[in-house]
Amino acid sequence: VIRAVAFTEGVNEAVATNDQARLQALLFPIVANSKVDRVDIVAADGQHLLTLSRPPGSSNVQDYAVIKGVNLSERTIVQKVLSGVVDELGDKHVELGAIDQDQLFITAGPIQQNGQVVGVVLVSSHVQNLLRLLKQATFSEITLYRLDGTAIRTTLPSLANNLDLLTIPREDIVPLLAFEGSASPRRPVMASNREYDVVPSIFWGRGEPLGFYSIALPTENIVARGSSARNQMAAIFIVALLLVFGIGLVTSRMITGRVQYLMENAIAVAGGDFSRRTEMRADDEIGSLARSLDEMTANLAEYTSALEHKISELTALYESSTAVTVRSSLNLNHVLDAVTTSIAEVMPDIGQVVIHLLDNENRILAPIAASPRTANGFPSFTFSESGRIDNILTQAKPQVIQLAEIETDLLNGSPPSEASTEAIILPLIAGQETIGMMSLFAVTNGMGPSTELDENSQRLLGTFANQAAIAIKNAQLFEATQKAYEELQQLDQLKTEFINIAAHELRTPLGAILGHASSVEKRAPPRLQKYISFITISALRMRTMIDAMLTIQRLDAGTAFLNVSPVDIGSVLQKLANDYRPMAELEGHVLNLHLADDIPEIEVDSEKIGLVFSNLISNAIKFTPEEGHITISALDYGDSILITVEDSGIGLAPEDQAQIFERFYQVRAEDMAQFGMLGVGAGHGGIGIGLTIVKHLIDLHQGEVWVESERGKGSTFFVTLPKKISAETTEPMIERISAQYP
Ligand code: ADP
Repeated sequence: VIRAVAFTEGVNEAVATNDQARLQALLFPIVANSKVDRVDIVAADGQHLLTLSRPPGSSNVQDYAVIKGVNLSERTIVQKVLSGVVDELGDKHVELGAIDQDQLFITAGPIQQNGQVVGVVLVSSHVQNLLRLLKQATFSEITLYRLDGTAIRTTLPSLANNLDLLTIPREDIVPLLAFEGSASPRRPVMASNREYDVVPSIFWGRGEPLGFYSIALPTENIVARGSSARNQMAAIFIVALLLVFGIGLVTSRMITGRVQYLMENAIAVAGGDFSRRTEMRADDEIGSLARSLDEMTANLAEYTSALEHKISELTALYESSTAVTVRSSLNLNHVLDAVTTSIAEVMPDIGQVVIHLLDNENRILAPIAASPRTANGFPSFTFSESGRIDNILTQAKPQVIQLAEIETDLLNGSPPSEASTEAIILPLIAGQETIGMMSLFAVTNGMGPSTELDENSQRLLGTFANQAAIAIKNAQLFEATQKAYEELQQLDQLKTEFINIAAHELRTPLGAILGHASSVEKRAPPRLQKYISFITISALRMRTMIDAMLTIQRLDAGTAFLNVSPVDIGSVLQKLANDYRPMAELEGHVLNLHLADDIPEIEVDSEKIGLVFSNLISNAIKFTPEEGHITISALDYGDSILITVEDSGIGLAPEDQAQIFERFYQVRAEDMAQFGMLGVGAGHGGIGIGLTIVKHLIDLHQGEVWVESERGKGSTFFVTLPKKISAETTEPMIERISAQYP
């Protein structure tokens, strides 16, 4: 507006010439158009020329009044313009102040003519109007202050006439100016019984603080707004939260419910219920998951049932392979029977089983058993000729062969069915030795053994074949042993017969020799005595040996038995001492007999007990160097009678003591020679069965025999005989003893 006034043609001239009427005519349209509240024109000499002004609050063009004679020449703003002050913003100036009674916001600029300032134009707005506009723009109560803090005007209705209450306290002004309005001190002010929050700030005009203005809002409004905003936010937030939770819950229920169902199904399937199906048809991921689970379960069910079938087959095969061992006896025919029936039981697909055994001498595989038909219908074939079979047997594992492959007609031209084009061949191998083969043929309906044997079947059929082979081999060995044993038995029989005959035939002439010798001995002259007693002794020795042979043979045959009767052991020993004294004296020995008084009669077989002690006494004589001592004694020994035969002979080494009761054991001759026994030992005429017989017979009598000896000092043989022999144990005792001395 300043520009419009200053540059409107004619205005500067009218100002320069003090033409007030012209000035008024020129100004009015500008003022009316621009709707400013007041325009003042002052001439360069300070003379007031014209004022057009309308009262505060008016917006009407007719309200503009022309005022004259206003003294404005002293005003700073007018002085600044007239003295040509120009700042960085130009030559215009602003001021907040009052003219007459009106509080105004005044702007001023120069009016120039030919470069000379000829006047000043002041364009002002009523502060009141400015505040009203600001209030409308900000929705808050506005107050304007002078630089000293006193309020000029306010829109706060109840304080318009009570401006003192709004005065900015002095202590606030300095910080307010220092902060340049950035952080304003807030102050509560009461107006119309409401508390307002008043926030002042600097009112700037052309870069200069002209005064202050403040913005006021009712405190409760701010608090209420604040809290209501908070409440609203909280409410919105809660609703949103609930919605999120609600939607989440519903969708997750939908998903987890189905997942849980799936899981229950999966667990049931894992637990072995393969009949479970989810039957879920949804198109989403869970649906496809369910479908794959169903598919998997179906496959699993199929696979498991196949597996179960296989397992039951294999288990049966395994059981039958052990059954072969259990069932089979040592009879070859029974074994072959057990093998063929076992395999037929487990493998119903198999219609025909044939076993060929290898005759190693002739290298021929001969059919030995078949089921269901007899082996007669099947061909033999030489091992080396049938190359394919040879190959299978050396590979030592079950194999499937095409029947066409082998030249030899395994089935002798009569296969169990047309469908039987292949066979499983199981080599029979016992240990390292191939003993034959087993051929399995399919049944009529063509469900033959599968061309490929899986690893398990192969292993089990292999195990089965091995068990069968071992059983067959054992039976074969047993049969061979049986045969050898029978042959041996026959030989043994012959030997027994021979010994019996020989012994009996020898005993009679020996008896005659002994009888005649003793009668001749009585009548012969003394110089012949020695020779005749030598004859007697030799014959006696011979008889002892023959008796020993007969006895041991009887013991071997298990036919030895005790012919017990109450016997006075003392008189038996007395008789033996008398019999053997001549033999002892021939060697220069002293033979003594010590019998306790109180020895009761005991139950023994007197003949056999006689044999026992004649063996012990003759040994004592034999194994004592010349001029020794031999003592026989007997005493009561609690439940038994103890009889000892003691000599001062060569004695026995500890290792010999342990063995002398064994059959045919004799101490080596050179060991005996050390002790002055040349001519005895192996050459002493014994055969090493005397003590064996002693042990046998004492066992039969339920007694005991042992030896105590020291080399070079002599030996003592101890014999105990129970006073009462238990008859009922006699029989098993014989059995036990004959088993012990086979
Ligand atoms: P034989 O007398 O026929 O050789 P025996 O069975 O009676 O057989 O005795 C076995 C062996 O025990 C004798 O060869 C002998 O070496 C040893 N022997 C037996 N009795 C005595 C003994 N009284 N003193 C030393 N050695 C003995």
